[in-house]
Amino acid sequence: TVPGLLARAVRKWPDRPAAVFAAEGVRWTWSEFAARVDRCAAGLLSLGLYRGDRVGIWSPNRSEWLLAQFATARIGLILVNINPAYRRAELEYALNKVGCAALITAERFKSSDYLGMLNDLVPELAGAAPGRLRAERLPKLRTVIHLGAEKRPGMFAWAEVMARGRTAYRSRLDGLCGRLKAEDPINIQFTSGTTGAPKGATLTHRNIVNNGCFVGRAMNLSEQDRLCIPVPLYHCFGMVLGNLACVAHGACMVFPGEGFEAGQTLKALERERCTAVHGVPTMFLAMVEHPDFGRFDLTSLRTGIMSGAPCPASLMKRVMRDMHAGEITIAYGMTETSPVSFQTAITDPLHRRVSTVGRVQPHAEVKIVDEAGETVPVGQEGEICTRGYLVMQGYWDDPERTAEAIDADGWMHTGDLGRFDDEGFCNIIGRVKDMVIRGGENIYPAEIEEFLRGHPDVADAQVFGVPDERFGEELCAWIVPRAGAKVTVESVRAFCEGQIAHYKIPRYVKSVTEFPMTVTGKARKIEMRQAMMAELG
Ligand code: ATP
Ligand code: MG
Repeated sequence: TVPGLLARAVRKWPDRPAAVFAAEGVRWTWSEFAARVDRCAAGLLSLGLYRGDRVGIWSPNRSEWLLAQFATARIGLILVNINPAYRRAELEYALNKVGCAALITAERFKSSDYLGMLNDLVPELAGAAPGRLRAERLPKLRTVIHLGAEKRPGMFAWAEVMARGRTAYRSRLDGLCGRLKAEDPINIQFTSGTTGAPKGATLTHRNIVNNGCFVGRAMNLSEQDRLCIPVPLYHCFGMVLGNLACVAHGACMVFPGEGFEAGQTLKALERERCTAVHGVPTMFLAMVEHPDFGRFDLTSLRTGIMSGAPCPASLMKRVMRDMHAGEITIAYGMTETSPVSFQTAITDPLHRRVSTVGRVQPHAEVKIVDEAGETVPVGQEGEICTRGYLVMQGYWDDPERTAEAIDADGWMHTGDLGRFDDEGFCNIIGRVKDMVIRGGENIYPAEIEEFLRGHPDVADAQVFGVPDERFGEELCAWIVPRAGAKVTVESVRAFCEGQIAHYKIPRYVKSVTEFPMTVTGKARKIEMRQAMMAELG
């Protein structure tokens, strides 16, 4: 279980550094961290929260987030990660979907006034006694905890919860903890919402403890390491591949700030002598393209994980060379599989480490199937299906969508296309839904995107299909040019001419300063397609 994993870390490395929050000036050893987790857990118990209750957290990366993750786990509460980019309507949907009894929220993040939005949604807060809320729009919600220092109507302040945990309820923790089972749900994690409405994946201790453990092993993570975590904690990339991998291997977690900012992350890497760093491809790109990049001393860096979206080989090579992260790994996964099912290991041959997502995780099974559900021969592409310890329990309170995703034999259908090579390394070709069919030819956008990144004026590219009367679909490329460069449809088409098949050459090219993104760093192709269709009439 997660509390068992933390107890082990405290036994093995009590006085070694566990966590650094650079922006808050917080530094904890493993025993200091665990003591705060206990105090927080006892405080939550004192509020009348019980095993199985859902507790939402709507906050950027802060020290309280980390404490809440381990404190809820300690007493069998189910933490519900809520995207910090969510606004009122999405918050309402998420809290009601899983019936949250409590919500922990930051006061504000970037330009968003969280408490303002919450007070709009729950006007009853003003007259409620803390912990006794009755709200029309959020019927299950009883308790709101805010992370500020001041007293607010109807809410507990975080400091109050921690204070309540000092004495009362502490003695009950170990007893409660002893009754936790590896199969208990610990976390409801919403997917990124790249392809539609986010789904709440229910994950157990067994799911995420093992995943964190194996992922750290592939990087050879140890108590000598300091892992920089600029990715959002609300997503499994942060809380599993970051936090749990560190707890499993004794590495120190380093959080550069509340949200990703390239300069701030580079500064933390240098100042904290980080040996590892996680990020989605756009974060690594923002770091290596940062105007002051060359001024940072990154020689301590060794490894980390690039994941979450297609990881271009060109970018991997730059990260290995210019960021000194020669042992950086690539992982592929999804929220529903806790998340990682494939990862390169630092011992794999270099060319596989830049161009594939590696081999299947230990104790997981993978098959690649065609449209009829038959396993395809090695070298052929099809949909990736995953089975084993890592598959979620299901989507919370949604048996129908769960049955669509996980078949009767336990296979999770990922919706992603992949191909094995003869040594078991896998290539991700793209999402089934993103495949473009133009005049009967299948086109995989990731292939064209990687080709376009080879254009000297192109910093990044996204390719997708738009409806077309003649061909069914036509190919469209959105390009972010390199600093100072200009990209035209002619120059892009000329670059492609003779290099790739004629039907793969984008018909439309649009130059943009950035792509619409999810908070987890995925390009929202749905939005780009809609914008393009509106533009084309
Ligand atoms: P939703 O399911 O709500 O549409 P989402 O699938 O983006 O959103 P996540 O679970 O955060 O939500 O992301 C998983 C997806 O990210 C995978 O299904 C895959 O398409 C993509 N992905 C993750 N890692 C990689 C990788 N290394 N290479 C290519 N694609 C990746
Ligand atoms: Mg998905």
